[in-house]
Amino acid sequence: MNRTHPGNGIKKIALHWQILIALLLALLTGIIVRQLPDGAQAMTISFLEFVGKIFLQALRMLIVPLIVSSIINGVSGIGSGENVGRLGLKTLSYYVVTTLFATVVGLTTVNLFSPGISNGQPVGKQIGLSESTDEVMSQIGGHDATQLVDIFLRMVPTNIVSAAANGEMLGLIVFSLLFGLAMTRLQGNHLEILSGFWHAVFYVMMRLTEWIMIFAPIGVFALVAKVVALTGLGALKPLFSLLFTVLFALGIHFFVVLPILLKWVGGIRPIDHYKGMAPALLTAFSTSSSSATLPITMECLEKRAGLSNRMTSFVIPLGATVNMDGTALYESIVAMFIAQAYGIELGITTQFTVVLLALLTSIGVAGIPSASLVAIVIILEAVGLPIEGVGLVLGIDRLLDMCRTAVNVFSDTCGAVIIGKTEAETPYAKV
Ligand code: ASP
Repeated sequence: MNRTHPGNGIKKIALHWQILIALLLALLTGIIVRQLPDGAQAMTISFLEFVGKIFLQALRMLIVPLIVSSIINGVSGIGSGENVGRLGLKTLSYYVVTTLFATVVGLTTVNLFSPGISNGQPVGKQIGLSESTDEVMSQIGGHDATQLVDIFLRMVPTNIVSAAANGEMLGLIVFSLLFGLAMTRLQGNHLEILSGFWHAVFYVMMRLTEWIMIFAPIGVFALVAKVVALTGLGALKPLFSLLFTVLFALGIHFFVVLPILLKWVGGIRPIDHYKGMAPALLTAFSTSSSSATLPITMECLEKRAGLSNRMTSFVIPLGATVNMDGTALYESIVAMFIAQAYGIELGITTQFTVVLLALLTSIGVAGIPSASLVAIVIILEAVGLPIEGVGLVLGIDRLLDMCRTAVNVFSDTCGAVIIGKTEAETPYAKV
């Protein structure tokens, strides 16, 4: 038998365990730092802050190329031709409708449970957010005053380079969607060159994200240790409420919304579908990546649900990058949580921006672990909230990533069987 080198063993600890260990160490370190004399304490805290900042900046660095290449790659994969057009329209409609449902479930839950408010007070101070409500309000002011019309205006940037440079993601996302769509009209050599290029860029960006995520435990350690050093363990309670809120909302989408669609629109017994898709769901849960789960999802649909290869190979690869219900739900809850933590009521226009951006960025993010973090940064910047809150969420992100990825994959598979039904296929006919 091949014995592994002890050094390899250390490398192979799964990322979620590494992050969990980092989290525990951060709590311990934070408590110890609180006991240090003032000078040493301040120095340690600013060092932790520096390390955490580098990690957050690295995430921001990925945003533009990752989103652009992921969208162009996903949308251009639709193909052209009349059949594909009809199937494409059905598929995209399913994606948009279910993602919107998910966002609404997320927003309703977060407004109901208000995890960012404890005993009537915003938890910002408790979780160590440094900017005050007034400071944040002044940044948001301009955003909330914008009319609904302005949101649509921002969807059409006058200059995509400056949109990218200034973090105006809405415009960039719309441009990438259009670019991908236009690519489906290309033929021959041109199509080959361009899809090869964007595929390669996307691949490189996924790799880069993976590399940066290797440092997630260090990032989590620095960010959480800093907060505990500044505020003590009180910071943890609001994070548990956030965790519970997200899990509850994901549960509603997974156990109520999607099964209703399966039953009423597709005429499929939800229980058959849960059973049939179990291997894909478990893989999604343990890998936190819709893309990595892709082969198993397709296998489950073809072998266990009896769907044709034509249907699965059209709906599923596109769905793995474009359709992310769990992700959109999560993004909207986190954005609202951070606003609540600062003691800020987001107006209806801003909430609408959150919905729109959650929808668009969930289309844009790649099906890889922690991709949502990038999207959350985009949403926070778009509505004028500071991104420091992301650091805290990072500590509980991995567990939630596992759950939301399972929801993402489940929604893809529901789409495949429902659309399959409308195309005269008979999923689960032999069950
Ligand atoms: N990990 C998720 C997926 O692969 C994306 C995310 O929400 O971070 O589906």
